[in-house]
Amino acid sequence: MSTGTLTIDLAAVAANYKALAAQSGAGTETGAVVKADGYGLGAGRMARALAQAGARRFFVAVAEEGAAIREALGRGPEVYILGGHMSGDTDMIHDLDLVPLLNSIEQLTRHFEALPKNPFGIQLDTGMNRLGLEPAEWAAVAEIVLPKKPRLIMSHLACADTPDHPQNAEQLETFRALTQGTGIPRSLAATGGILLGSDYHFELTRPGIGLYGGLPFAGAQNAVTLDLPVIQCRDLEVGESVGYGASWVAEKPSRIATLGAGYADGILRSLSGKGHVFAEGVPCPIVGRVSMDMLTVDITGLRRDPKTLELLGPDQSVDQLADLCGTIGYEILTSLGPRYNLRYAGRAG
Ligand SMILES: *Cc1c(COP(=O)(O)O)cnc(C)c1O
Repeated sequence: MSTGTLTIDLAAVAANYKALAAQSGAGTETGAVVKADGYGLGAGRMARALAQAGARRFFVAVAEEGAAIREALGRGPEVYILGGHMSGDTDMIHDLDLVPLLNSIEQLTRHFEALPKNPFGIQLDTGMNRLGLEPAEWAAVAEIVLPKKPRLIMSHLACADTPDHPQNAEQLETFRALTQGTGIPRSLAATGGILLGSDYHFELTRPGIGLYGGLPFAGAQNAVTLDLPVIQCRDLEVGESVGYGASWVAEKPSRIATLGAGYADGILRSLSGKGHVFAEGVPCPIVGRVSMDMLTVDITGLRRDPKTLELLGPDQSVDQLADLCGTIGYEILTSLGPRYNLRYAGRAG
C-alpha cells in the first residue's frame, strides 16, 4: 500500500508555463527549471509536459539530473546545468550533450581543457554571492570567453520575490553593465524576476516554482493534489490523548483517523497540532504530533469515516501549507519524498 496519491495536473503545469511566457514580449524565450526531480513532481514527466507547452531550454542543478531530461526529451532541447562543470562530470556532459553554466575561472579552465568543442554558458555574480564569476573576474576573461560563443550569459536575483527590494534594480544594473553589447543571449529572471516586468526578461527567462503552481506567481493554477489514506479510525473519551508526547488530549468525545503518511513523506513535523486536512471540502484538524509514517486528525465532525483525506489540493495550496509550517512552497514540494503513488492527470498539449 502506498502512503498516498500525489496527483499532478499536467494541464495546469502547461497553462502556468504559457501564462508566464505570455508576460514577456516576442524577443524573449521562456525556459523551464526542472531541477530536484521537477520540484518533486517527476522531472521526466514535467519536462515532457513543458516541452509540449513550448519550452525548448531546460535547467537542472547537477549533471546527473540531465540524464532524466534527455531520456524524456531525446536530443534537441538544450539542457543547462546550473552548477556548471564539476570535476568528474566531463563524460556525462559530453555524452548527454549538456550545457554547463560555468561559474568560476577554475570551471572555465576545466571545461576548455576537457571539452573545448562542447557548448557552455556563463554564470555571473551580480550581488547574490552564491555562484558566478565576479565582475572583476569577468572583466579579465571576457575577451577570451566571448569569441568561443557561449550559448547564454546568466545571473540570478536574490530578492525577486520582494518587488520593492532595492537589490533588484542594483543587480539589473550590474547585469546590464557586464553583458551590454556582447551579442550573446542573456537570462536574469526566474519566476519572481518575470513578475518584476520586462526590464528583467532579456532573451530568456527561467521560471521554476511558478510552473508548479507556487508563489510568487499568485496567478498560478494549482497543479498538485495530495490524498492521504486512512489506515484506522477510533473513538476517544474525554481525557484520552493522541500520539507521541500525548500532546493532544480530547476535551470531548472524539473520533480520530490515522493517516498513512508522515514526516518521512514531507509532511513536516512542524505541522504537529496545526492546520487541517480536508474531506470533500470539510476541514478536519490535525491533532497530536506528526510521526515518521503517520498523521492523526480529528474527524469528529464528519458523518462517516473517510477512505482518504486531502492535504494539498483545491482546499489547501502548497503555499498555505508552507505558511503553517513556517517555510516556503518550494520546500514543501521538494520534500514530498518517494513513497507516494504518482498520478498524472490532464493533458499538456
Ligand atoms: C531554482 C532556480 C531558478 C528557478 O527559480 P524559481 O524561483 O523556482 O522560479 C532559476 N535560476 C536559478 C539559478 C535557480 O537556482
